[in-house]
Amino acid sequence: MMRFPALYPDEHVYSAFIRARCLSGQMHLSTHRFFELNNLKYHWLRSQVPLCANLASVMEMMVPDSTELFGVRLMHTPFAPWLMSAEGGTLPKELTHAGTRSNVEETPLNVDKRWKFCVSCAQEEKRKLGVSYWHSSHQLPGARVCSTHQMPLHSLDELRYLDFTLPHHWLDKALPLAMVGDWQRAWQPFIYTVSDRIKVDIDWPKRVKSEVIKYLNLEMGVKRSDRPKFDTLFETMTQELEQDCLAGLFTAFAPHRQRRPNLLWLTLSGYSLAKGLRHPLYWLVIIFWLRNELPECRKLI
Ligand SMILES: [Zn+2]
Repeated sequence: MMRFPALYPDEHVYSAFIRARCLSGQMHLSTHRFFELNNLKYHWLRSQVPLCANLASVMEMMVPDSTELFGVRLMHTPFAPWLMSAEGGTLPKELTHAGTRSNVEETPLNVDKRWKFCVSCAQEEKRKLGVSYWHSSHQLPGARVCSTHQMPLHSLDELRYLDFTLPHHWLDKALPLAMVGDWQRAWQPFIYTVSDRIKVDIDWPKRVKSEVIKYLNLEMGVKRSDRPKFDTLFETMTQELEQDCLAGLFTAFAPHRQRRPNLLWLTLSGYSLAKGLRHPLYWLVIIFWLRNELPECRKLI
């Protein structure tokens, strides 16, 4: 039986899972055998799929009381922005799976999906706790600096999936993430503040989304014939956000790509054929674009 340690503040569920394997003396097993022995489906540990069934299976083992699962997912995975994706009458606590395969969740996105850590956080933790741990907030989409130390996060290609290591194992090898463009600098406080806000106020997404709809004059609903209006709006959004920003977030906006989806139409029209949940980046980029216009955002940033 695996022993799970208590989670540290902002610790990612998978980080505690790795520590649990060490504490339970199961590091000598092969990774396949380790999963088998603990009745878990073998899988790769991804940093940004908080609604993936594989991660859920680990969480259920770690947190036997199902009423605590929502809180653990909210505080210990990069889940908070996903509350943007809840549509219609879905309550935050009902949001437990994305309805798509976890690789589909990540495919259209160009954000860095490797595991990231802050050298200062890792060194401090190693000194105080004897181990360092993976922070869930450092894995937020587009996060490239530590919000505590304002230092660049570090990563490495080997960290696309975690091989049961902790940040201090990578201190000598990982490289700092570069900041490219003004949008990335602006994105840092934005993504952390929005995520922190949702953690303490799970209805914030609902309010900010209705402000977007009001700001864009879409309160009366959207008709299929509104498409030209959306094309004009999206042209404005593209110009104001800059190509770099959209290309940095979505693969479809890479310079060589011809077909560029209208993100506003996809997210706001109700006519797109998305299977399962839409990734929160769709809403986030719209809110990022309008962040100086929306009262709920001005209060934050
Ligand atoms: Zn730090």
